Formats: sequence, C-alpha cells, structure tokens
Amino acid sequence: MDMDNEILVDVKEVSRYYGQLAALESISFTMRKGEVLGFLGPNGAGKTTTMQVITGNLAPTAGAITIAGHDLLEDPRAAKGAIGYLPEQPPVYKELTVDEYLDYCAALNCIDRDKRTSARNASKEKCGLTEVGRRLIGNLSKGFQQRVGLAQAIIHMPPVVILDEPTVGLDPIQIREIRKLIRELGKDHSVILSTHILPEVQTICDRVQIINKGQLILSDTIDGLQKQLKSASITVAFLNMPHLDILNDIPGVNGVEEASPGYWRILFKPEQDPTDTLVKLSVENKWALRELRPGRVSLEEVFLQLTTSEHTETKTDKEIKTKKETKTEIAAGKDN
Ligand code: ATP
Repeated sequence: MDMDNEILVDVKEVSRYYGQLAALESISFTMRKGEVLGFLGPNGAGKTTTMQVITGNLAPTAGAITIAGHDLLEDPRAAKGAIGYLPEQPPVYKELTVDEYLDYCAALNCIDRDKRTSARNASKEKCGLTEVGRRLIGNLSKGFQQRVGLAQAIIHMPPVVILDEPTVGLDPIQIREIRKLIRELGKDHSVILSTHILPEVQTICDRVQIINKGQLILSDTIDGLQKQLKSASITVAFLNMPHLDILNDIPGVNGVEEASPGYWRILFKPEQDPTDTLVKLSVENKWALRELRPGRVSLEEVFLQLTTSEHTETKTDKEIKTKKETKTEIAAGKDN
C-alpha cells in the first residue's frame, strides 16, 4: 500500500436519526493522509452530528466508521486513540492553568508519565502557548483559549485531528491566527475541519465536502469548488451521448461531469448560456436529447447561505449555540 495515500478516515453509509429526523442520511466519504478536509454546510446541516459520530461520541443509527484502520464500533479504544478532537464548545477548564490542564489531558490520553511533560511542551510550542503555561485558562482571551483547545487535541500526536467550527465567536484577528495555526497543524496531522464559512475552506483546506440537510451534496477539490462557484449549470441526458470533448468545446462551457448514471452536468459561465447551441447541435448530430433541466438549485441555495454567513454572524447565532451545551458536554468526555 502507498502509505502517503493511506485512508485514515473511512465513513460508510452512516445515518443518524433523532426520532423521525434524519440528522445524517447515509453519508460516505474518506480522508487520506496529509489532507485538510473541509466539512462545509449551513447551520443545522449536520456537521456537529458528523463530527460527534466519527469521534465516537455519538452512536450512528447505521453505517461503519474506520479510523486509521480501526473499526470505531468494534475497537473504539484504538480508533479513538488515533483522533484528536476539538468540539464546538472547547472542553477547557477555566480554573486550571494551561500547564495543569494539558498535563491532565496528557494523562487522559494515556501518555506515559515520563513523557507527559515533553508532550505538553511540544503541543504548547506548536500552538503558540509557550509563554502562557502558568496563566489561568479563564484569564486568557478567547483566541488563546481556542489555542489551548487545539493543544489538547494534538497532545497525543494523533494522525487525525477533528475541529468543529474552531473560529466561531472569535474576532477577525484571532480568526486569522487560528486559521494560520490550523494550516500549520495540517503539515503533521490530517485534519477534518467543520465550518459554515466558505472562505474558511477556501483558505485552509485541500478538499471540501458540502453537507446540507443531512446529505453530502458535493465532494471536490478547492479548485473544483472555485469552478462550481463561478459556474451556472444544466443537467442533460442524451440517448446517443457525444464525446465529452465536443461538449467541453461549446463556447461558455467550463466543464462536464457525470451527475448520476446517464445524466451529465454542464457547468458554464453565467453570461454565456450554451443551452441553445446544445439543442441545435443535438438535432444536427442526432444525439437524441431526452432531458434538459436547470442545475442543482439546492447547491446554489447552499452557496448563497454560505457566502452571506461570514458577515451576518450575529449574536443570535451564538445564543443558539449555547443552547447546545448539553450536547457538547457529552462530546467533552473523552475517555470512555
Ligand atoms: P450548527 O452549525 O448550527 O452547529 P450543524 O451543521 O452542526 O449546525 P447539527 O448540530 O449536526 O448541525 O444538527 C443537525 C440536525 O439535527 C439539526 O436539524 C438539529 O436540529 C438536529 N439535532 C441535533 N442534535 C439533536 C438532538 N440532540 N436532538 C434532536 N435533534 C437534534
């Protein structure tokens, strides 16, 4: 096996129901070694549920999850040991100093007693905390408290690091610093980053997965995402499918991809709609066009919500979040 290409997170057809509500509906994806994978979706899309399920803090209703080769349900201890997790509400104890707290986390993660100090110092250094070891966490700024949250997630050097909306509630300067830090962490760890902020995945991630209403609706590279953002789309089906190059060569067309078996999504520059040309060519060349419909409305709607959210984040967003504390308290209990 090519170790650089190793699959570290393998999620297969995972669903999670809350009563009748499908918070996650049969989602499948993989993350490979060395990737920073963005998990992007509007509020309530199912991001936190996904993060809790893949970190073993919430049982899936169906499906299988493998972390670094360990089945999460069959061998939870090994699987969880390969993960560092920063939940939406950082599990930091404000009455402890940074050093006391990180020592406690080192013990929780079963790091040998004689290696705890060096593990603590290494994670502090990586997260820019070397100068504040003796400060009480409660007296640090929100940005520094978030650094402490990142330090506890990496203290045991896990191959996989999972961060749930790590920049929510920070000011713009702190946001920039935390994003930079996450990019740095991405050099030593493979990272899954959940966010509802489109520019956040554009600046930090290699690949993106978009989730909406519990379903994955897009999986692409950042370059692919940029193309999707700039394009309008139509979906077509022909009885006699022409060669892809012919479709790609129609003026205005940015790309052609298979939407589902037999259905092709044509991405195009919004100011250069190729529909008329396409219909004309189909008749001339007997491609037998049997379906033509406008592109995925849901994806466009989601983009609209994602694009507006960075600037419209209001106090009410944060108030909604604090209601979820009971949920994240469960998430904070790491060793079970
Ligand atoms: P946010 O950005 O607001 O954190 P999210 O994408 O993380 O949103 P989730 O918190 O995963 O979304 O929620 C997905 C769906 O599941 C939502 O409709 C939510 O209301 C519902 N949900 C989440 N937790 C529970 C729960 N404990 N009981 C019932 N429904 C829940």
